[in-house]
Amino acid sequence: MRIVTVVGARPQFIKAAVVSHKIRKKHTEILVHTGQHFDRNMSEQFFEELNIPAPDYNLGISGGTHAQMTGKMMIAAEEVLMKEKPDWLLVYGDTNSTLAAALAAAKLHIPICHVEAGCRTHSMTNPEEINRICTDHVSSLLLASTQSGMDSLISEGLADRGKTVGDPMYDAFSEYRSYKKISEVRLDMLDGRKINVPPEFYYLTCHREENTGDDRDLLEIFKAMEQLDAPTVYPVHPRNKARAGRLLEQTGTEKILLAEPVGYLDSLCLVSNAKKIVTDSGGLQREAFFAEKKCVTILDFVCWPETMVSGRNELAKPRSADILEKLSHEQTVDPDYKPFGDGNSAEKIIKEMEEYYDNRN
Ligand code: UDP
Repeated sequence: MRIVTVVGARPQFIKAAVVSHKIRKKHTEILVHTGQHFDRNMSEQFFEELNIPAPDYNLGISGGTHAQMTGKMMIAAEEVLMKEKPDWLLVYGDTNSTLAAALAAAKLHIPICHVEAGCRTHSMTNPEEINRICTDHVSSLLLASTQSGMDSLISEGLADRGKTVGDPMYDAFSEYRSYKKISEVRLDMLDGRKINVPPEFYYLTCHREENTGDDRDLLEIFKAMEQLDAPTVYPVHPRNKARAGRLLEQTGTEKILLAEPVGYLDSLCLVSNAKKIVTDSGGLQREAFFAEKKCVTILDFVCWPETMVSGRNELAKPRSADILEKLSHEQTVDPDYKPFGDGNSAEKIIKEMEEYYDNRN
């Protein structure tokens, strides 16, 4: 099979890392990077660390409004697809890159395989929700990471195109989690210092559009973290960097360690060694779960219902009292509860694509 894979954002590089290596043992892959994430520490570093093959095309498209970005990506993706004439378009997750490539391929009648299909927040103010729903509805093969994803596909009348294959983020976590030790992780602080990770710490990430709209939310998050019994490591997404730096200066606290984004292997070390995790990232919520760490998610919708059991992941409003209260709850962990598969989803993804291809008319 000849597969065009389109990626553009940090979590997609991680998923592609585990799938691309296996695709290339038997099939031809043409890798397209839209350019949505372009800073070295949000893109190139992942390709190097995870040994992801260099993209065959880099579309160099980032920034602008949602429509500007999606429109430019559609035009560029269409050109690549018309030239390469693949048997498949393979896309991951819910970014503008995912949607743009899927819309371009659908109109060219190229079958689309969507990995992480069926994930729903049931909030249409969440921009990624629109990307997820539209991508699923134009795709031929819908590969859900969990049963709840499959349930959403069933309720939307998409069951006959759907299969549950497990979560490639869990494959990646299982493969890469012990590559590095926490003592090897150095934080590039925004103030220019390079420091080691403190012996005890909380891990914070926060970058969703929902939490970066006004100063108050981030200030409240900082206010909560400041009151905890250990410092907080906060590698800040470029989207939130200027605001976070300015607000942190206002608080005057030294308990929040504001750093440049870390690489994936470092991030896995932080997850595995943190006391607890506070985030608005879909990927980090799942990694907290994989590492059996208590997570508090600052969003008003559930992304991954499987994690919301036994106090393991709780939603909090961006208000310090709520965050502190949720952080004070302890979780219980059932080691036999494994809703994200067995760490072999990459093989299953490829097998499903092969079966569909062999049975096509
Ligand atoms: N991550 C990383 N460096 C960081 C922060 C996060 O490598 O500085 C990793 C994290 O461990 C997870 C992924 O990035 O694997 C999550 O990506 P992101 O939060 O950008 O997207 P989302 O999961 O919300 O779609």
